[in-house]
Amino acid sequence: MVETVLPKETLARNLDAIIRRIEATRIKVDEHHIVKLVVVSKYTAEENIRTLYELGQRAFGENQVQQLEKRAADLEDLPLEWHMIGRLQKNKINKLIDLDPFLFQSLDGLDLAEALHKRLEAKGKTMDCLLQINSAREESKAGVDPDAAEDTWHAIRERFPRIRLRGVMTIGAHTDDVARIRKSFETTRAIFDRLQSDGAEICSMGMSGDFELAIECGSNMVRIGSALFTP
Ligand SMILES: *Cc1c(COP(=O)(O)O)cnc(C)c1O
Repeated sequence: MVETVLPKETLARNLDAIIRRIEATRIKVDEHHIVKLVVVSKYTAEENIRTLYELGQRAFGENQVQQLEKRAADLEDLPLEWHMIGRLQKNKINKLIDLDPFLFQSLDGLDLAEALHKRLEAKGKTMDCLLQINSAREESKAGVDPDAAEDTWHAIRERFPRIRLRGVMTIGAHTDDVARIRKSFETTRAIFDRLQSDGAEICSMGMSGDFELAIECGSNMVRIGSALFTP
């Protein structure tokens, strides 16, 4: 954990640089292609979130329910938009529902969907979610196999109405081979395209090391952490 508190000038410079790169890339795709930035704050000090808020950033992502809970409470005075982007253990489902995240990006299969839906029903709530796709079929990663993604999407839509599927999320292939990373994004984009007629609006892909490539492949939401918090 790099908990260094960074000066406002540093964060402003980094944020500007990221926004410029997002802009330059999305314009190449289409002038109407809008890309949303979610700042991944999991490795940074809380104070830096506050500073980024002052610089205009609203959307933040955490990958652990416990840390999300603490930060949402500590920063309650700010109108932040919280995204849960990490693996959700079943024993944390109730807590996540109570935190009422803006978007749960890492719904990774029917099993979790069933458990989540049951608790949502008990609490009389709904949750906006993205279906996470394991686009590079990596053992270490969560998510639905690309071949099963559409069936899983439709099954969730039919069986679990309290889960509001808003789109898909993926993590690019873990490799230096750009062609393979591109392929994992294209795989996800193709699934997203086929699901748009069934309500998919968000295609969340791209992190510090690969967000420009992800945008070129159709991402409209990037999740960026380390590139922002480098001194
Ligand atoms: C940590 C994380 C990110 C951000 O990664 P960086 O490389 O630090 O930009 C994005 N998405 C998920 C799911 C993550 O866990």
